[in-house]
Amino acid sequence: MKLPENFGENVFNDSVQKDTLPSEVYKALRATIEAGKPLDTTIAGSVASAMKKWAISKGATHYTHWFQPLTGLTAEKHDSFIEPEGDHVIMRLTSKSLIVGEPDASSFPSGGSRATYMARGYTAWDPTSPAFVKEGTLYIPSIFVSYTGETLDKKAPLLKSMTALDKQAKRILKLFGIECKKVATTVGPEQEYFLITEEDYEQRKDLRLTGRTLFGAPASRGQELEDHYFGVLKPKVSEYMRDLDEQLWSFGILSKTKHNEVAPAQHEMAPIFTTSNISVDANMLTMEIMKKVAQKHGLVCLLHEKPFEGINGSGKHNNWSMSTDTGLNLLNPGKTPETNTLFKLVLAAVIKAVDDYQGILRASVASAGNDHRLGANEAPPAIISVYLGDQLGALVDSIVKGVDYVPVKTEKGSIGVPESPIFPKDATDRNRTSPFAFTGNKFEFRMLGSQANVADPNIVLNTIVADAFAQFADELEEADDVESAAAKITERELKAHYRIIFNLDGYGPEWEPEAAKRGLLNNKNTADAVPVFFEKKNIDVFVRNDVYTEQEAVARGEIALENYIKTINIEALTMLDMVKQDIIPAVSEYVSVLCATVAAKQACEGLSCTVEKALAKKLSILNDSAYAAAETLEKDLAEIDKNDVKVASQAMAHTIVPDMEKLRSFVDQAEKLTSSDYWPYPSYSEMLYRVK
Ligand code: ADP
Ligand code: MG
Repeated sequence: MKLPENFGENVFNDSVQKDTLPSEVYKALRATIEAGKPLDTTIAGSVASAMKKWAISKGATHYTHWFQPLTGLTAEKHDSFIEPEGDHVIMRLTSKSLIVGEPDASSFPSGGSRATYMARGYTAWDPTSPAFVKEGTLYIPSIFVSYTGETLDKKAPLLKSMTALDKQAKRILKLFGIECKKVATTVGPEQEYFLITEEDYEQRKDLRLTGRTLFGAPASRGQELEDHYFGVLKPKVSEYMRDLDEQLWSFGILSKTKHNEVAPAQHEMAPIFTTSNISVDANMLTMEIMKKVAQKHGLVCLLHEKPFEGINGSGKHNNWSMSTDTGLNLLNPGKTPETNTLFKLVLAAVIKAVDDYQGILRASVASAGNDHRLGANEAPPAIISVYLGDQLGALVDSIVKGVDYVPVKTEKGSIGVPESPIFPKDATDRNRTSPFAFTGNKFEFRMLGSQANVADPNIVLNTIVADAFAQFADELEEADDVESAAAKITERELKAHYRIIFNLDGYGPEWEPEAAKRGLLNNKNTADAVPVFFEKKNIDVFVRNDVYTEQEAVARGEIALENYIKTINIEALTMLDMVKQDIIPAVSEYVSVLCATVAAKQACEGLSCTVEKALAKKLSILNDSAYAAAETLEKDLAEIDKNDVKVASQAMAHTIVPDMEKLRSFVDQAEKLTSSDYWPYPSYSEMLYRVK
């Protein structure tokens, strides 16, 4: 690929729009995209026709509305452009087909409220995210709503949350004399993933059905040498990353950084940030392309949060900020944050929002997969806290405790070798253990699982910060002197929410009890985390900001729990299959070989049978234990009333997951003692070190 010429070659982007649309139409479309003006539907026909022409020139024969239902994945249904005319066809995309689609909504999750939603659902074009051509189809980014107007997806509420933030942020800015057309939230999601060979993947039933290994004794070499992080790329991996970048760039995705991650076979791609809804679309497309490109290289890209036990799992860092269309980043502290009243007020709003709504922020990243990471010394703990770094930490302390603020000077660093350059020492040092860290001019929310749709936490973040802004704006609009009123609000709120700030080691043993003392939530699994969605205070913040109706908010919680129950259920059933069909028979067979060896040896006098006997005995006991544990798991699973999501999710978290762990422990011990000729699956050391 030629850069920069071919960047975004598959995207109906600004320059293509400019080249292909009549200038009046182009202007109207840009006004919708940039200033958030309502779409002038009379231009849709013209846009549709230009889009179709362009798509056909790129080899497209079909179009699809591309949307993000509550499955957490993307959905598409392709229609061809053909329309009969006499005995031949013409290629057509009408304005109606561009603007609305009508997929059957009844097979998509909608929470407990399907009866009222009815089966009819509409997809509607989101003109702010550009259309693109992929594999012969024109993809039209869309939202998904029900016949009665309830949102059935993740994009519509994301857009609503961005609108809420825009509205409230502009109120604040206006009070400070800053006029702008739009305040947009921005996101840069860093994406972690694993690569293994297709050959190994095919042989692992658990990876194929659940995305993670349900069994597997640890490899003798894990990540303890700390040699993989930023290590030299293996040729196969390097080829993969190169191909991936080219694909991503062709779709206008700003892939910037690539490197090896901490665990063996683990890697990362970080894009340059952009407006939240575009970033969400780009990340969904990135995950799809990561998998497809891997296939071409004989590899499989694993996006599960915990494909392998005993080494790090994968997450996503959600870098988040808010910027005006005039280029002002509201989270930029500037050179002298101590005199920047607006910045301090914005900071107080974020801190207040995160403290008040820590429950839903935590719940927004809860999933069966992510339960393996949070609190497991590789990702932030399940407790939400805010890290500010030395500079802002000192600033906030000075406000809360009334002590003088001594600015942390950015010192000049040098390694003491005259030829080497002088570098500025960063005042916002890194704290990788914090779930919500200030990093220079943005916050980095680090709790997301690698498979997550980043819309989820951003809907919550935008909504809760918008809500804090709204409260501040209500007060400030009544004040005579905005500066001093803002300073008062800042001081009051920082004092009220000081407990959420934690600038020390979030992985250390002291933090959990300390957080409990501060009254912070610590919901360790999805079943315990998600029900906060049903609390009145949390529903109200969505309703107040016009992001969800009560019914929509409750539906999100129910679907998250349903999803969790189904995921654990599939994992448990897969485990039972593997144990009964493959593992127990394999161990039995190996034991019988050992016993046959004992018999044969005993026939010749004087040969020792100690090893064979000891192994046969240990493995028989482990096989019995595995069988008994499988029986318990099966029985417990059968007893769960799956109709009540709250009860069933609790049972999954507190009975089934422990049952599964127990079963796994017997099997993993057996694996270590069984000849690899008999073990039915590739081992951890094969999977993690096979890619060359
Ligand atoms: P690091 O966190 O390693 O220092 P950077 O600060 O360059 O790296 O950025 C990490 C991620 O944060 C990138 O995806 C980057 O695009 C994103 N990012 C930077 N600034 C912003 C912003 N204002 N809003 C959202 N994301 C941002
Ligand atoms: Mg980072």
